[in-house]
Amino acid sequence: MIVVGLTGGIGSGKTTILKMFQNLDIECYIADIEAKKLMNSSKKIKKKLIEEFGKNAYTTLGLNRKYIAKIVFENPERLKTLNSIVHPRVHKHFEKFVKKVKSSYVIYENAILFESKGAKKCDFIITVTAPISVRIKRILARDTTTKVDILNRMKNQFSDEEKASKSDYIINNIDLEKAQKEVQEIHLNILQKIQEIH
Ligand code: ATP
Repeated sequence: MIVVGLTGGIGSGKTTILKMFQNLDIECYIADIEAKKLMNSSKKIKKKLIEEFGKNAYTTLGLNRKYIAKIVFENPERLKTLNSIVHPRVHKHFEKFVKKVKSSYVIYENAILFESKGAKKCDFIITVTAPISVRIKRILARDTTTKVDILNRMKNQFSDEEKASKSDYIINNIDLEKAQKEVQEIHLNILQKIQEIH
């Protein structure tokens, strides 16, 4: 199965672009959502997270995301530890998911595709970019957060330039209609490349 990685910094529009691929009937795996699910369902992850972050890592309702996020986004070392606990299990879960995929390729969406070494499993990579000021405006309009928190998250992600240099396709997501056209072109290009491979 051909795996196409989809990445981009916070607020670049990954989810927006992903939906465009879903509308083309391409199956998609959203690493962040699956990671959150696994943090609630996997006993092994839960045990390790409590060892690392203490009992407050979970409440009676499940994972205490706010508590963990506050710790890790202020401390890159602890973010690395969190990723080292969660990511190997997400990778394994993705391998299982791929076996059931029916579309001609699968999209693996991960904001930290390169940082988490997830890029290794991708045949092609798409990076979604947008100017930092635009991304900040989008996140402030979408979430209850602060500019400081957004900048802290950005600090832990590679820059757009770095990601773009390691990618096969770049979508500069400013104008939605233009982005939609680019998605269509990339989709056709990937299908053509798959034909060439087989
Ligand atoms: P995160 O990393 O935080 O999950 P993301 O990269 O997945 O973010 P989206 O959630 O797709 O980004 O987009 C962030 C916000 O910006 C959303 O509210 C979305 O509707 C809006 N948005 C995305 N692309 C555009 C665009 N081209 N024009 C205007 N608004 C956009």
